[in-house]
Order: sequence, then C-alpha cells, then structure tokens
Amino acid sequence: MPMGAQMEQGKASGFDATLGQPALIDPFGRAISYLRVSVTDRCDFRCVYCMSEHMAFLPKADLLTLEELDRLCSAFVERGVRKLRLTGGEPLVRRGIMTLFSTLSRHLAAGRLDDLTLTTNGSQLAKYAGELAAYGVRRVNVSLDTLDPEKFRAITRWGGLSQVLAGIDAAQAAGLKVKINAVALKGVNEDEFPDLIEWAHGRGMDLTLIEVMPLGDIGEGRLDQYLPLSMVRARLGERFSLEDLDYRTGGPARYVKVAETGGRLGFITPLTHNFCESCNRVRITCTGTLYMCLGQEDAADLRKPLRASEGNDLLFAVIDEAIARKPKGHDFIIDRRHQRPALARHMSVTGG
Ligand code: SAM
Ligand code: SF4
Repeated sequence: MPMGAQMEQGKASGFDATLGQPALIDPFGRAISYLRVSVTDRCDFRCVYCMSEHMAFLPKADLLTLEELDRLCSAFVERGVRKLRLTGGEPLVRRGIMTLFSTLSRHLAAGRLDDLTLTTNGSQLAKYAGELAAYGVRRVNVSLDTLDPEKFRAITRWGGLSQVLAGIDAAQAAGLKVKINAVALKGVNEDEFPDLIEWAHGRGMDLTLIEVMPLGDIGEGRLDQYLPLSMVRARLGERFSLEDLDYRTGGPARYVKVAETGGRLGFITPLTHNFCESCNRVRITCTGTLYMCLGQEDAADLRKPLRASEGNDLLFAVIDEAIARKPKGHDFIIDRRHQRPALARHMSVTGG
C-alpha cells in the first residue's frame, strides 16, 4: 500500500503508523492536528477589544518555563499535532522566546511538524524576524487594525504604528510570508477596509477580517464594537468583485479573491457562522491549561501531570481524557439581552 494511503487508513482508525503514539481523535471524529500555545499573558499593547487598561497579569511563578513549554508542545507533536502556533499576550515579549523557537525547530527538521508559526502584534518583529526565519518559521500573522497612526494608538492604547510597519518590512525582508489580521470595529476602522485591502494585497499579503468575540470583561459594551462581517462583505462587494474561494488554511477563515487586487481576503465570523464542524485545534495557556474549545469554559490542567513525572504517561492520560470531552461547538452570543461577556477569560489568555 502506498505510504499516503497507509497514513490515511491509520488516521481513520485513530492510529498513525508514523507516530509512536495514537493520534488524538475527539468524539466527533475530528483529528487534533493544530495546537495554539499562549506563551505569556503579557503584552506591550492594551488593545481595547482584548484587554482593559489596567490588567492584572499572572505571577511569573505560575507560568510554564520555556523547557516545560517545549516538553508540552513536543508531547502534542508526538500525538499527531502537525502545526504549532505560538501566541499570547504578545509572544515576542516573553523573555528568551527565541530559545523556544530554536528547540521546537528540531521537529520541523525531523519532518514531524509541518508548520511552526506565530501570531504577533508586530512590535518586536524588526528585532526577531531574521532569527525566526532561521528557526524555520515561514509565515507569520500580524495583527493590524488600521493604517492611521492616531487610530492605531487609540485602538492599541500603547502601540506605535511605525514600529509595527517596520516589523512587517523586516519580516518580508527575512523571507517570511505575512498575513494581516484586522478586527472589524464598528465606527472605528469600518471605513478603512478598502484601503487595508489595497495596502495588504499591494504588498503580497493576505488580509483577514475578524469579528469581535465576546471574551473577557474589557470595561466597554460589546455591542458598541460589534460589526457583523456579513455587512462588511456586502459593502465591500459594492466596491470590489469578490469571488468565493475553496482555499482553506486549516483555520476558521473563509476566503474570497478580490478581482481588482488579485489578493485574498478572509473573514472569520465566529458569531454569524459556525465553523466548529471542521475544528482540528486545541489551545494551551501559558500556565499549562488545555482548552478544548475557544468558546467554552471546560479545560484540563496539564501543568500538574507535566510536573509530576519526567515521563509523559500521566500527561498523555490527562490529554486523552480532555480530548474525549472536546465539545461539538461553541456558543458565543452577543445581543441586547447578553451584554456580559460570554466567557470571563480574555483573548490574551488563550491567544485567539
Ligand atoms: N498579541 C498578538 C496579536 O495581537 O496578534 C497575539 C495575541 S492576540 C490575543 C491574537 C488575535 O486575537 C489578534 O489578532 C487580536 O486582534 C485578536 N483579538 C483579541 N481580542 C479579540 C476579541 N475580543 N475578538 C476578536 N479578536 C480578538
Ligand atoms: Fe496585546 Fe494582541 Fe491583545 Fe492587542 S490583541 S492587547 S497586541 S494580546
């Protein structure tokens, strides 16, 4: 039997012959192949939709060490995860973070991992782009909601646009493929999407628009920020020719091609569409808590089994039990009767 067919057969039965350990398959038959890891809850920005201005951060002692993060990621790679995304908080403000990229790159070199990547606000990219490329990172998602310096400052509270633009330049110069993520904010950047599209596509970058999600108490009404992307898409459709694409990145974005620019535009609409049926991902926080769904509270503590023994048997047992509880989908709601956040934790805890 050809290798590819063998692997497919193995995956269907829950056992991947290329791994020493069985693959992680949830009760709905979804194979877990994508792990997002929040390496810190701290950030050098305070985006209005993500954090309150005065955030209380975790004591440093509660965080997993870089060695523990490596062990945890490696355990998931052993169980069939092929894509690792480091996020935060801002992953590039975690001290020593290049060491983690460096050690994780061994899985790329060994062919156990297809993709090692990160989501960043771009503020530290000018410093780190070269090193990231050297460690095998090929793509990076940069969050940027506006090209207007004043609006940028108002949205991020502490950020500087020029620093982020310099980071994007550095990433492209280092050969990294950059994708831009922009959160759609009612009355803030909604008039700017055509400019953002032309700017991103003009530089060879995909752009993905994200609907605000009701995570964490940020001290402002969510209804004030919420802008349905169905509306944005309809408006953009009056200006551009948008062609539906089958293209998928393994994530929840649906893409269209913008005929005028030739570039791709993605929409992540957790509230107006349900993308859960093809969910292949789980998330780990910087304290080692495993969330099986971004939109649910259920979680498993992996730090305890990680620290309890040097071998991975205990850890695998807890991971297996948790994956067996992965829910079918989330239940985010923003409406006039549900002004409170659907979940108490902030996006900076699970990393989006
Ligand atoms: N600091 C990095 C950054 O900003 O890219 C990585 C972490 S950040 C939490 C990941 C993504 O989540 C960013 O693109 C950010 O815009 C998005 N995000 C944060 N809070 C959000 C919310 N309430 N709804 C939708 N997206 C959110
Ligand atoms: Fe920081 Fe990213 Fe949250 Fe903005 S979205 S506050 S950059 S973690």
